[in-house]
Amino acid sequence: MQASAETAVLPAFSSVPNGTGLALSTVKVPNRVMKKNVNTILMVAVLTGCCLAQASAFKVLPWNGHSAALSLTFDDSRAVHLDVVVPELNKRHLHATFFLIVSKTTRLDDWRKVRLQGHEIGNHSVSHDHVSDLNKEGEELQVEDAKKFLDSNFSADVLTFAYPFTEVSPGLLYWVKRYDFAARGGRGDNSLLYVTADTQPDWYNLPSQPSYTRYDAAIYRGWVDKDIAMNAWTTLQIHGIGDSSTGFEPIPSSTFIDLLDYVKAAEGKGLWVAPFGDVAAYFRAQKIVEAAQSQAGNGETRFNWRIPAPFVHGVTLKMAANSSRARFFQAGRELRRNKDGSYSVSFDSGELVVKGQL
Ligand SMILES: [Zn+2]
Repeated sequence: MQASAETAVLPAFSSVPNGTGLALSTVKVPNRVMKKNVNTILMVAVLTGCCLAQASAFKVLPWNGHSAALSLTFDDSRAVHLDVVVPELNKRHLHATFFLIVSKTTRLDDWRKVRLQGHEIGNHSVSHDHVSDLNKEGEELQVEDAKKFLDSNFSADVLTFAYPFTEVSPGLLYWVKRYDFAARGGRGDNSLLYVTADTQPDWYNLPSQPSYTRYDAAIYRGWVDKDIAMNAWTTLQIHGIGDSSTGFEPIPSSTFIDLLDYVKAAEGKGLWVAPFGDVAAYFRAQKIVEAAQSQAGNGETRFNWRIPAPFVHGVTLKMAANSSRARFFQAGRELRRNKDGSYSVSFDSGELVVKGQL
């Protein structure tokens, strides 16, 4: 029989939903002493129950169990994305994000196919205006109308946004927070281009690095290498490919192909190549579970978290147990270990119960 630290130290206490998390059941002591004891016990509970239980019970594996993550994003609804980028990605079984400008989006059937092939469609506003040209109504319309158009035309719930010109204003941010769970910004001051798993990023201004025509293949290879070396997540922001008519700062075609081949090879060595929204959702869910409130008692520790709104459904976190004796439950059902020894935790469930970890 395995007793948890809480039951061993505090046999007379059980968990109650009264806000303190603990109640004294059998010990009779004067009120003054009891108050002191309860305080001590609360401290012990905080130290052993809350923090150590989580630290010793499990660890959410960053980047879906990979060493690093990389997202390829393509902006502005360009024809070259449909004609060149998507076929090249599909050939390599890579998935990317396409941020669409609603007023520039034609060939809707082709774009729908892109989404069905596993790529992400994101919101890049109605008409790609500078924030200085938007009034209050314009800020709302650029986010809300674009989302409604995309949702209805893709039969989807589009929950990611990319700021046109990577310009953020308080008004735009207000609507983006209302309709999206993550948004892509620009380079910032360069310090955050490689987001490490221990940071708490700004979900509504996640960094990205734009490609430029003058960059050669070695530059992009360097980005991928740095990302892996830092065990980080980086997002590439790409527009045109090849000819100058294909979009802003087109990447020479051969450089683009080299980048995709290099990314594909890195994937084989453990890089998680996934759409922006997939990585952002995993990362944000990880942060929430890591900060989850816990309650210990009756030989188990219960973790509860709140799902933000809006948020994407169906996020599964990979988790490692720190003790071979720990057993994990969600919605009353025991989780089975995956072949690689990890556990798959449903973020939608909002709770995780750990038994027998000590
Ligand atoms: Zn753009």
